[in-house]
Amino acid sequence: MNLNEFTAHQIHDLLVRKEIRAVEVTEAALRRIDEVEEKVNAYVTVRREEVLREAEEIDRKIHRGEMGSPLMGIPIAIKDNICARGVKTTCSSKILYNFQPPYDADVVDKLRKVGAILIGKTNMDEFAMGSSTENSAFGATHNPWNLGAVPGGSSGGSAAAVAAGESILALGSDTGGSIRQPAGFCAVVGMKPTYGLVSRYGLVAFASSLDQIGPMARDVRDTAILMNLICGHDPKDSTSLNVPVPDYTRALVNDIKGLKIGIPKEYFGEGIELEVREAIDKSIEVLKKLGASIKETSLPHTEYAVAIYYLIATAEASSNLARYDGVQYGYRAKSEKRKMKKAMVEMYENTRREGFGDEVKRRIMLGTYGLSAGYYHAYYLKAEKVRTLIGEDFDKAFKDFHCLLTPTSPTPPFRIGEKIDDPLKMYLSDIFTISANLAGLPAISIPCGFTKDGLPIGMQLMAKPLDEETLLRVAYTFEQNTDYHLKKCKV
Ligand code: GLN
Repeated sequence: MNLNEFTAHQIHDLLVRKEIRAVEVTEAALRRIDEVEEKVNAYVTVRREEVLREAEEIDRKIHRGEMGSPLMGIPIAIKDNICARGVKTTCSSKILYNFQPPYDADVVDKLRKVGAILIGKTNMDEFAMGSSTENSAFGATHNPWNLGAVPGGSSGGSAAAVAAGESILALGSDTGGSIRQPAGFCAVVGMKPTYGLVSRYGLVAFASSLDQIGPMARDVRDTAILMNLICGHDPKDSTSLNVPVPDYTRALVNDIKGLKIGIPKEYFGEGIELEVREAIDKSIEVLKKLGASIKETSLPHTEYAVAIYYLIATAEASSNLARYDGVQYGYRAKSEKRKMKKAMVEMYENTRREGFGDEVKRRIMLGTYGLSAGYYHAYYLKAEKVRTLIGEDFDKAFKDFHCLLTPTSPTPPFRIGEKIDDPLKMYLSDIFTISANLAGLPAISIPCGFTKDGLPIGMQLMAKPLDEETLLRVAYTFEQNTDYHLKKCKV
């Protein structure tokens, strides 16, 4: 096995024992990028020269006996909507094609401080709007398990980079499933933390009441290690929770005896593909054998989740994206008009028309409509009320269960181009993931099977707010007793 295929904790052990150097790990990842990037297109930016210098500096530190964090010297790919000072941060949009943030996101600051190697910025659906990473101004990302298939989205670049061995770890963002769905499609682990647990400072806003940054990794241990670093209070984010952060690696016990797991029946209706259903059924049997008590339960308002998500997310997006006007950052279109006032207005219009892609424009229009006088009460306000009901469904379920289990997505990875002209079909691929965002819950996706054609299938676990530990415990136990996470793709 090459170094770029190891987990972060394996690499850490080798670095501590001085059996390898950080430079070798970074070189292995860069070599792999050279090998497959033309086919996969996981990155928008690779920090080729900088990372080698940074890794050398880490080696000098380790040589001096200054080995600190388990993330020191570990390559990590960052979704391109997370700001890193001086590194292009495009959100895969033409409108930010040249934007270099003058500051680090809180998560990036934390990673730099412990000596993680920020290898590059990953491709995504423009402004994180999409489920396939096809909505990118820089071309689609391809699924490393099957280049004709999508990697999921919107954090498809991050998922593909980890799956293809182009990075050891990655960060994604999840507004309605954008960490978990691509993790499921690429057979990696992806976790959306409780809303407020990870600072959103420096995450380019899509829908602020739903957005959350989270880890993507090769196994559950690496996920816990990355959670340990990125979680915690940040006064720069007014929605950041001021709660103690546990050591998540302590939740990694191979034992789920007596744990109660609920299966919400609404997640197993029409639209779920047979091979997904079979993989989940098999996984349920595995967990039962390991001592979990598994019973059916109900989340009765599930059927409204997609509709209200697309009202709330687009409403917030229409407001958040108003700042892209060609004046403050990024792309600026020309105007032919002579008169100052007309020229200015035309510049705004042209900038937004030329700078945003179709899906982003569709959402801005939907969101503006849903918030406009006369429709606000019927759409946006109603949606917020139903959001409360969805939260109450979960509160009830968590009185009886420690966590809930569902497929991550109703289908395995679909073909590139298959849903791009049918937004409604695309929206339905998040049907199982968006409720966790609406209710602010933590949720994780782990590999739980493959189709007969070798495409990955993911299983989702959801828990009550701030109970990441139960998710990690169940996921870890499942992983210790199965080998789906060990399979490597062949791209
Ligand atoms: N696919 C969903 C959307 O398009 C979720 C995206 C996300 O989580 N960023 O809005």
